[in-house]
Amino acid sequence: MTATPLTCDGCGQDGRRYRRGLCGTCALTEDLQAALDDGHGSIRPELLPLFEGMRQMDNPRAGVSWLRRPHVAEMLRTLANPDTAITHETVDAMTPWRSAAYLRDLLMHHGVLPAVDRHLLLFQRWLAEWLTGIDDVAHRRLLERFATWHLLRKLRTIVNRQPLGMKRNQDARRVLVQAAAFLTWLNDHHARLGGCTQADLDAWHTPPPSWPGGPPRRSCAGA
Ligand SMILES: [Zn+2]
Repeated sequence: MTATPLTCDGCGQDGRRYRRGLCGTCALTEDLQAALDDGHGSIRPELLPLFEGMRQMDNPRAGVSWLRRPHVAEMLRTLANPDTAITHETVDAMTPWRSAAYLRDLLMHHGVLPAVDRHLLLFQRWLAEWLTGIDDVAHRRLLERFATWHLLRKLRTIVNRQPLGMKRNQDARRVLVQAAAFLTWLNDHHARLGGCTQADLDAWHTPPPSWPGGPPRRSCAGA
């Protein structure tokens, strides 16, 4: 990875050697082609704006390093698969959250995904940060699924009709904080209550009045 001058074998431009006879941009292009390969040596047309945009980034070393992260490679492999729908919901299901949020920003920046509501994005960023602060791994997984399949779906339903707004963003945060407190409370009463499942947590949640309707409030504590 020595930065010695060369005439690049890939683009023919004079520049700095990144690896073998390639400049940084050509090395990044090569890695992007591999990362976004649809399994038949091509890149899906939907992902070409991402490919073209990324390969011309000012700091190709940063792009090459990013592509080397195993979870990034996995996320891109998922998107590259022609059987995968390239949607916000697909990115929602990706982990870890922080990396998925970064990938979403890139996909929106390059026009692969439509821009999302600002408050929805703020909520998702808060969620990624908040989840990392949940020490109990089982609780964190449960809350992550609850947020993905319950809260985010409802928020997207709203965004399809109107801007989310700060209040609903804050309401969603409050619901999650309460859900975390509920799980902790269940833990403390575990001997008496027995296990609580994802279905219990979904059922426990009642959407705020400003959200689309959901199931009536109940909890496994009261069942
Ligand atoms: Zn080159």
